[in-house]
Amino acid sequence: MITGKTRLTGLLGSPVAHSISPLMHNEAFRLLDLDYAYLCFDLKEKDMEDAVKALKLLNVRGFNCTMPVKIRMCELADRLSPAAELIGAVNTVVNENGTFVGHNTDGIGFTEALRSCGYEVKGKKITLLGAGGAATAMAVQAALDGALEINVFNRKTRSWSRGRQLVDNLNKKTACKAALYDLDDETELRLRLADSDLLANGTPSGMAPETDLTPITDPTMLHDELTVFDAIYNPKETRLLREAAQRGCHTQNGLYMLLYQGAAAFRLWTGQEMPAEHIREKFFH
Ligand code: NAP
Repeated sequence: MITGKTRLTGLLGSPVAHSISPLMHNEAFRLLDLDYAYLCFDLKEKDMEDAVKALKLLNVRGFNCTMPVKIRMCELADRLSPAAELIGAVNTVVNENGTFVGHNTDGIGFTEALRSCGYEVKGKKITLLGAGGAATAMAVQAALDGALEINVFNRKTRSWSRGRQLVDNLNKKTACKAALYDLDDETELRLRLADSDLLANGTPSGMAPETDLTPITDPTMLHDELTVFDAIYNPKETRLLREAAQRGCHTQNGLYMLLYQGAAAFRLWTGQEMPAEHIREKFFH
């Protein structure tokens, strides 16, 4: 029920109409009897500055940002969390008494999703595919959570320089050892995978409708002690995950990453834990 004291939260970006975030947050507010509401606002990057000013004036509790406004929000926030600063993108803003603090919970979604299945990244050697928004958030949070080594494999195209910046940042600003390799270098990829505990896919290769694609074209590179995580959640089982399971690997898709990035934002706004089990049962099957 909306009251005179209801605190507003929501999602800015474009498109937003398909988002699962209003469903999960409003259901969690209802379950915990919290006087909050979550709405979606379809917003282009050029209108972001005006929107942020208006939201501050209206004293909203906070909001999520999705593409294309995540990077712009970094410049518009009054302050950034260490993760948001390292990632260079904001997906959650918290209004701290008129100061808009930018956070990034995408990477937390990744590490918490793994944790929910009993897997800790601390002390692990990780092979990460991609150097875009998702991969950067996954790498930064894994490094902040104590991963030992992250080897990033990316194509030598558009985002190669982003990959270079990511590994330089990790090496300079965290205790994690990071390196960048060409995804087309099969010899190096095979070598690094043989020595890895976790393979994480942060590329869209295999996402619907191109479900016949996979970033690992030779599944014999996958060994049965490897955990394989795919940030993709549509389809639920990508070709990468199917072939990894056939090789005896533990596998996980990106659905819980989506859930736990939301749960982390919920915690920042309300100070309470999202009833993740219930939300999982209701919306994430
Ligand atoms: P992005 O910023 O565009 O980055 C994509 C990355 O993958 C880039 O490094 C890109 O390199 C590489 N790439 C693209 N197509 C490739 C291919 N066919 N083979 C190998 N590399 C390829 O995209 P994003 O926002 O990070 O999203 C990536 C994936 O993560 C999407 O499937 C998205 O749905 C998923 N995601 C999931 C969650 C979640 O909560 N589960 C959250 C965010 C994103 P180039 O420069 O060479 O193209």
